[in-house]
Amino acid sequence: MIFDSHMHTEVSADSQMKAEDALERAASLGLGVVFTEHEDMDFPGEKDFTFRPEDYWKKYEALRGKGASLRLGVELGMQEGLAEKNRAFVLRAPFDQVIGSIHTLCGYDLFYDGLYKERTKDEAYLLYLETMAKCVRSHGDFIDILAHIDYIARYAVYSDPELSYDVYGEAIDEVLKALIETDTVLELNTRRFDAPCAKASLVPIFRRYRELGGRDVTLGSDAHRTDAIGFSFAAARAMAESLRLRAVTFFARRKEYC
Ligand SMILES: [Zn+2]
Ligand SMILES: [Zn+2]
Repeated sequence: MIFDSHMHTEVSADSQMKAEDALERAASLGLGVVFTEHEDMDFPGEKDFTFRPEDYWKKYEALRGKGASLRLGVELGMQEGLAEKNRAFVLRAPFDQVIGSIHTLCGYDLFYDGLYKERTKDEAYLLYLETMAKCVRSHGDFIDILAHIDYIARYAVYSDPELSYDVYGEAIDEVLKALIETDTVLELNTRRFDAPCAKASLVPIFRRYRELGGRDVTLGSDAHRTDAIGFSFAAARAMAESLRLRAVTFFARRKEYC
């Protein structure tokens, strides 16, 4: 079964999706799902992107028990100084899957324009990639997956926001090498697949991942609403297959082939 390995229910501060609705929608698409709630400690701004793993487990464990189609994970916000706190967090529940993400940089939420206003695109993107490589190394022994390598391109305000391998190849390689050295899977996030140039910019990155020794990817929609579950999965599967990458998911922290 193919899994949508990245989505947020109402446990995440930025989602109101109900677990039952997500499961119903995924079942209609023939997909399994992994809930990956936000745990972003020291997040800039007003919103609290944290949750109590013990409560999460109580809330959803019964649904997880009803079959193999639901798994319970977390999306950890990585920051250079947070590795030990994040490591301790993961131990508080028997998560099936742990994703690491970069959502903030230099005290800025990448969703807003604060970081971009003060920097050129090259400055911001190189800092983003260098921080990502460092965080994969500091978190790599307790995360399974690196999410949305192109996250910054969702929100950056530059005229061309794409994360181009031609321009940033050297810094992207450092991230990819960190993934392979720490046995961390690169997620193929479909959130930006509606834009052909966004999708196209991912191809050389995933091709290079394969070249450097990467073999597996997870497919993730990053859905915060039921209508985004499984978004563009046919295209994502075709891309993975064309690059000879296998779709995997995680159960009880162990890799399973879809
Ligand atoms: Zn994310
Ligand atoms: Zn997410």
